[in-house]
Amino acid sequence: MLDLPRARDRMVNIHVGRRGIHDREILQAMREVPREAFVEPGFEEFAYEDTPLPIADGQTISQPYIVAFMIEMADVKPGDHVLEIGTGSGYAAAVMSRIVEQVYTIERHPGLAETAKRRFEKLGYRNIEVRTGDGTKGWPQAAPFDAIVVTASGPGAPLALQEQLDVGGRLVIPVGDDPDLQRLLKVTRTGAATYSEEDFGGVRFVPLIGEQGWSENGTVTKVGRPLRHPHPISLPDMIAAAAEPLPDFDDPAFGALFDRFADRRVVLLGEASHGTSEFYRARAAITRRLVERHGFTIVAVEADWPDAAAIDRYARHR
Ligand code: SAM
Repeated sequence: MLDLPRARDRMVNIHVGRRGIHDREILQAMREVPREAFVEPGFEEFAYEDTPLPIADGQTISQPYIVAFMIEMADVKPGDHVLEIGTGSGYAAAVMSRIVEQVYTIERHPGLAETAKRRFEKLGYRNIEVRTGDGTKGWPQAAPFDAIVVTASGPGAPLALQEQLDVGGRLVIPVGDDPDLQRLLKVTRTGAATYSEEDFGGVRFVPLIGEQGWSENGTVTKVGRPLRHPHPISLPDMIAAAAEPLPDFDDPAFGALFDRFADRRVVLLGEASHGTSEFYRARAAITRRLVERHGFTIVAVEADWPDAAAIDRYARHR
């Protein structure tokens, strides 16, 4: 039997809290919203893994950590009015609705918008308004917004969205023309016609399709405000964005970092270069933690990667 409330708590502690999201309102909201109600039927058992999952119309429900990260970047607070572009499953809107006064969310696929609306009704989340349409044009009738969160990646930050920010308002949006890697950008309206911009590193999102986004065939329909960081991202930058500092292998905090994998069925440990003593010490510490604390029976499968059939055999073992 799946213990979903327990899995939810673990997901929040391990995948969100320990990775640096400390905002109490966000952690509490994620403890409250049942992510299993937002995944497709049959995917409930994966609802609390820190991964995006497929939903209808070829779209995705975002990875929980990224949802938390974007909400934290948008600095949403009780009393705020927030616009989300890209309702998708409705999960991120649901999380924000537990924090702010009112959420407006726009989805271009009518089926997704309708399903999300039904989910909100069933859960009794009454402070979310859903609309079908092109979110790159915003929601002028409900503007100005304290925050706008865009969950699909555009060629730039759409002007309409920037103009619908209140002064002091924040727009969080992935931007860039590489389908595999974009930058997460935060644009803050600092005055009637002034904006500041921060770059929060590499991310990967589905495309923002619309009048001020991409066209269906991937070209720009109307460019938003030009980026200050249009240069391609270097490999060291990508590694730096994804890397986490590790304590010493003998420090119990090192093993604890791998608790985030405790709900997996198989954990494969590999090394970037062969035969370093650090790899073997790290592997021993991680294995010890997963076996002693989390009841794992199989953790490491050689340093050379096994084939898919081998992984499947091991998975069935557990
Ligand atoms: N926030 C969603 C969730 O919690 O499930 C994840 C959304 S998914 C990563 C991005 C969504 O943006 C997709 O559902 C896609 O259809 C939608 N989208 C793309 N372009 C859009 C546009 N111009 N207006 C509204 N929605 C758009």
